[in-house]
Amino acid sequence: MQIAIDGPAGSGKTSVARALAKRFGCLLVNTGAMYRAVALALSHGLKLSEIQLEIRPNERVFLNGEDVTEQLYTPEIDELASQVAARSEVREFLIEQQRVLAQNRDVVMEGRDIGSVVLPNADVKLYLDASLEERARRRCHERPGLSYDEVLAQLRARDARDGQGFGRLQITPNTVIIRTDGRTLNDVIAEAIQAVEAALQRRSPSGKLSG
Ligand code: C5P
Repeated sequence: MQIAIDGPAGSGKTSVARALAKRFGCLLVNTGAMYRAVALALSHGLKLSEIQLEIRPNERVFLNGEDVTEQLYTPEIDELASQVAARSEVREFLIEQQRVLAQNRDVVMEGRDIGSVVLPNADVKLYLDASLEERARRRCHERPGLSYDEVLAQLRARDARDGQGFGRLQITPNTVIIRTDGRTLNDVIAEAIQAVEAALQRRSPSGKLSG
């Protein structure tokens, strides 16, 4: 089973993806972490051809054998990742790896272009959304060094860039849209689980989805 989760920064994708991966026994692939690791590598002067990424089942990200997970979630990498993700050669490099990761296994993959580009035939496609203000409030807790206004400005800029081209933040047919404003995480996760269960019920005996 392939579950695709897309949505803008701060929409709650990662928490929902984690919960679904645990509930349905799927490998979790956070594609944003892959863009972040590539941004880190390029900022250290490496070329794409010199980059080897590994995402472990415990979500640790290894860059050329080194665990770089703790270096990926800083305001600098937020910005750099968003910039390098607008380069087509970076996207080709990562999309190919993402498709290989999803081959012949149950996977929950989250990002910006999963349902539209990476896994357009995913069994379940979810799109999480929330207002800019709500997402900024959530992000403030994760980036304690920044003020609300700074986070808001950064998110606004990232939204504009992340939605530009390459099929990102596009809602394709058969996508379940989940708005998360003013809702608890548990409530959102329950809706996401329902969407996956509904898709599983539509499976024909051959294991393929119908309808
Ligand atoms: O999801 P996260 O905020 O960690 O992603 C970091 C950056 O990587 C995003 O701002 C976006 O520019 C880029 N990205 C992307 N396509 C994806 C996942 C992330 O362009 N599938």
